[in-house]
Amino acid sequence: MPFDQNRILLVHPLGYRPEKARGDITRIANLMPPLGMASIAAYLEAKGLHADIVDCVAWPDSGGLIRELLRDRRPGFIGVGCTTFGFHDATQIIKLAKAEIPEIKGILGGPHVSALRERILEENPEVDYTVVGEGEETLEALMRSGHSNLELIPGLTYRDGHAVAFSGFRQRGMDLDSLPFPAYEKLAGYPDVYKLPIFNYPRAPNASCISSRGCPYECSYCDRSVFRKSFRFNSAEYLYEHLRYLKDRWHIRHVNFYDDQFTFHRQRVRDFCSLLLDKPLGMTFNCAVRAEHVDPELLRQMKAAGCWMMSLGIETGDPDLLPHHRQNADLDLLAQRIRDIKKAGIRTKGLLMMGLPGETEASIKRSMKYVFSLPVDDFNLTKFTPFPGSPIHKNIREFGTFEEDPTRMDCMHFVFVPTGFTKARLEQLYGRFYQMHYRRPKVWLGYLAMLWRSPDSWRRFVLNLANFVQFAMAGREMAKD
Ligand code: SF4
Repeated sequence: MPFDQNRILLVHPLGYRPEKARGDITRIANLMPPLGMASIAAYLEAKGLHADIVDCVAWPDSGGLIRELLRDRRPGFIGVGCTTFGFHDATQIIKLAKAEIPEIKGILGGPHVSALRERILEENPEVDYTVVGEGEETLEALMRSGHSNLELIPGLTYRDGHAVAFSGFRQRGMDLDSLPFPAYEKLAGYPDVYKLPIFNYPRAPNASCISSRGCPYECSYCDRSVFRKSFRFNSAEYLYEHLRYLKDRWHIRHVNFYDDQFTFHRQRVRDFCSLLLDKPLGMTFNCAVRAEHVDPELLRQMKAAGCWMMSLGIETGDPDLLPHHRQNADLDLLAQRIRDIKKAGIRTKGLLMMGLPGETEASIKRSMKYVFSLPVDDFNLTKFTPFPGSPIHKNIREFGTFEEDPTRMDCMHFVFVPTGFTKARLEQLYGRFYQMHYRRPKVWLGYLAMLWRSPDSWRRFVLNLANFVQFAMAGREMAKD
C-alpha cells in the first residue's frame, strides 16, 4: 500500500510503562501539553503538509491509536520528540511504526538528541534522522527532500552510506511572529486534559504558552542544546493576539508562560502589559523570571495587567556554591526581588535543586535557612540531574558518582551523588526539606487561602488525596531507609 510523503505522525512519548501512569503523581499534579510539537504541526499544515499528534503523556494507552493512525493515514514519517528520560520509549515507538510500515522514516528531536547528535544514529539503527535544534524548518525541508541532498538541510543528522553525517547548525533562528499559533486542536482533550501544578493558578480552564525561545545565560546544569544561546521572542502584539485566541477559541482564563526568561526584554513586557490594561481580556498569567530582569516598577505594571505568580530559580541558598553553577550569583538581590514581588501582590515560587556538584550538608542547611527566611509561597525542589547537553555533564564524574541510567533521569531520582554523600542521606535531607516547609503555620494558612484563591486546585487535591498520601509515605520510607 502506498504511503504519504507529505504526512508525519508526531508522538510525545510517555517514558515508562502505561500501567504505572494512573498513579503517577507527576502526571496528576502537572500535565503540560507538548507545545513544541503543536507549533511544528501548525507550521507544517500552514505549508501544505500534514501532521497528526499523539501525546502519550496525556493518553498513556496510546499504542493502539498510533497503530490505527499509521494504518489509516500511512504517513511517510514518524517524528518523536524526547528528553533523556523519554529516549528509550521514543526508539520503541519508531520500531513499532516500522513494524507497521517498513518504509516509514523515523525521526527523533528534542534536547537529548540535539545534545548527542551523531551518536544517536550510530547507536540506534532504527532511527533514520535526528533534528538538531528547532524543528519547523528542518522538518519541512526534510519532508520535501525526497531523501536526497540532505547536506543542504541545516539541523539534520542522517546516514551517508555507512557513515553518519551532520549538516551543521541552522545559522538563523526563526522569526517567532511568523509562526502560526500552535495547533492546539491536534491535541486530543485540549485544554481540559492538561493541568498546571496544583495551587499554581487561580482558575480553570488554564493553559501553558511559550512566547520566546532560548536563553543567553549559561547555567552549569542547564541543557540549551535546542535553542542554544539565542534569545528570540514574540512581539507584545503577537502575544496579546495569542492570548485573545486562547480565550475566544478555547475559553482559557489563566496562562502559564513557560518561557525561560519571560521578562528578559523589558520593553516587550511593558508593551504587552499596556495592551492588557488598555483592552482587558479578563485573563491572569504566571511567568518565570530572573532577579536581574524585574524591578518594582515593572512588577507593579505586571500585577495590574493580571500577573498572578512568578517563579524564580534559586537553585541553592549557599553563597559559596551558587557561583559555581550560575552567572550573577547574588543571593541578596534575589532575596530583595522576592520581597519586591510579594510586595507587588504577586505569589512567588522558588525553584531549587538538591545534590549539585559541590553540595554538602552545610550547603543544604544554608539553602533551607535562606528559603524559609523569604516570603516564598511555594517551592519546587528537584533532584539534580546531569543531562547530556548541560555544561557540567562533561566532567561530572570529577564531582561524585554518576549512574547514567536514562530511565531514571527525570529530576525525581538522585542519579548523581556528590562526593562525601550517600544517596540515602540525600533522600533523607530531601524529605526533611519538604517536611520543614509543611510544618510552618504560615504555609498552611497560604494553602487554606487557596480555598477561595484557587478552588479548582483544592478540588483536584481532594480528588487525588489517596495518591498524594501514598507519594508522601513513599518519600518518608525512602528518607528513613
Ligand atoms: S537555567 Fe534558566 S537562566 Fe540558566 S541557562 Fe537555563 S534557562 Fe537560562
